[in-house]
Amino acid sequence: MKKLLCIAAVLCSQYLYAQKTILYCGKLVDPKNLAVLTKMSIIVDGSTVSSVEKGYVKASAGDKIIHLEKQTVMPGLIDCHVHLETSIGPDDFVNQFKFNPQDIAFLSIGYADSTLMAGFTTVRDLGGSGVNISLRNAINKGLVPGPRVFTAGVALGSTGGHGDPTNGLRSDLMGNPGPVDGVVNGVDDCIRAVRIRYKQGSDVIKIMSTGGVLSLEKDGLGAQLTDDEIKAIVTTAKDYGLRVACHAHGPEGIKRAIRNGVNSIEHGTFMDDECIALFKQYGTYYVPTVIAGKSVSDSAKMPGFFPPVIAGKALMVGPKIQNTFAKAYKAGVKIAFGTDAGVYAHGKNWMEFVYMTEAGMPILEAIRAATVSASDLIGISDKVGTIEAGKFADIIAVDGDPQTDAHVMGKVSFVMKGGVVYKQR
Ligand SMILES: [Zn+2]
Repeated sequence: MKKLLCIAAVLCSQYLYAQKTILYCGKLVDPKNLAVLTKMSIIVDGSTVSSVEKGYVKASAGDKIIHLEKQTVMPGLIDCHVHLETSIGPDDFVNQFKFNPQDIAFLSIGYADSTLMAGFTTVRDLGGSGVNISLRNAINKGLVPGPRVFTAGVALGSTGGHGDPTNGLRSDLMGNPGPVDGVVNGVDDCIRAVRIRYKQGSDVIKIMSTGGVLSLEKDGLGAQLTDDEIKAIVTTAKDYGLRVACHAHGPEGIKRAIRNGVNSIEHGTFMDDECIALFKQYGTYYVPTVIAGKSVSDSAKMPGFFPPVIAGKALMVGPKIQNTFAKAYKAGVKIAFGTDAGVYAHGKNWMEFVYMTEAGMPILEAIRAATVSASDLIGISDKVGTIEAGKFADIIAVDGDPQTDAHVMGKVSFVMKGGVVYKQR
């Protein structure tokens, strides 16, 4: 009885002193309507937004006010393509023989933190060793700070292709990797691999329908999964409520993936007019990762940074992505923001905004790609992507006005995720 009274007292005191947080926003970006509102108040109650109101509303006793009158406020940003387990460096090849999962886990905590501090409150992790699943769980439990993570776990590709973790090894070390390791050959493997991902706790399936740049294989462009294989993956993923993201550089792999129903094409470097028509016909999202292309081609110019086979591909593929993005944007392809963070330093994700605007997309549309469109692609529009009553209070602020200079997106001075302030200057 005494215990019950205690609980009642606690509940009562919480009710009496229920505190709301009110954010006074000098400028507030409304990405859905591509508008910037001035002098607005956001009222946050617990982890969610309770209302957005004109003017600076009066606080009641006990309310907390956060002053962002001199900043530009917007929904927390979403990066649809990151790798939170890794950060690129010249020792990458050797490190795979040195790092235990525990080492990767400790490193990933720092990468997740840098990402959140850069204003990215949600990310889609498109492939790692499986540590990314544990990282997501640790963040969700509040053990470590980081963005909301929607993770693929281990990505899927074919033998010798971009997803094969044993490419370039001595033959006795190559072994025979299979669906557990992310290597699939034939429809049965594809079905099994998706079910394994589901069992392990992946939120999304990542596949490689063409070769890639940062793997020790000769061809970075050619198709590496058959129509039947992609179809089996997409159909099985649908059964389990999972969406499919597809890495693709060459046109044949892009076309097969779109026709077989993937939700997004990542990179899309050599898309031709037929690809663009298919994107529009199927409503598939394009996730450009311009910064990844620029960054790997810069790294490739540093002697010894990459093995020669990777350096050659990086120099061929990297510089092309920005033009591809410009072409796709102009043609009206649906675009969701994604950067391939990990291929460059975590926390610099915002540079993608600079490259997108350089290529002709107005900054408010780029912010829409990183909020409204990104949440639509991931399938979480009811929870994040805009600042609206009932959605998570994922809110950031930058110093200055991004409409005058896209570099302002790198000046994040305030980060709130789920009503908790992680950064405030
Ligand atoms: Zn990637």
